[in-house]
Amino acid sequence: MAKGYQANRERQELIASLGKTLAKRAGFACEWCGGKEELRPWDHRPEREPDESCLALLCRRCRDLADGAPADANELRSLRNALWSDIPAIAEGAGRVLARCKEPWVREAIEESLMDDAMKKELLG
Ligand SMILES: [Zn+2]
Repeated sequence: MAKGYQANRERQELIASLGKTLAKRAGFACEWCGGKEELRPWDHRPEREPDESCLALLCRRCRDLADGAPADANELRSLRNALWSDIPAIAEGAGRVLARCKEPWVREAIEESLMDDAMKKELLG
C-alpha cells in the first residue's frame, strides 16, 4: 500500500509538472468544451506513465462528465469538436463520454472523427 501511495504521489507530481505545457497547449480553456471553470489536468490513462498525449486540460464540468456524471444530449454537443483533436486524451476521452449518449448524431460524429477504427469500434460497440 505504501508503494502504491508513493507511485501515485510521483504520478501526481509528474502531472503537475506538465500542467504549464498543458495550459499553453489548451490556450487556457477546457480542451473538451472550451469552458474556463477550474481548469485542471485530467488523466486519460491512469494505468500508464503520464505524458502530454494522455492528459487533457478540462473544466470542472467536463471532469465530472469524465467521471460518469449524467449529461443531456444538448450539453454533450459542446464536446463534439473535441473528437477532431489528434491528442488521444482529448478525442478518445471526449469520445468515451459522448458514446454513453445513444443519439444518432453521436454515432455519426464518432464515425466521422479521425480516431482509428479500433477505437471507434470500442466506443460504438
Ligand atoms: Zn469543459
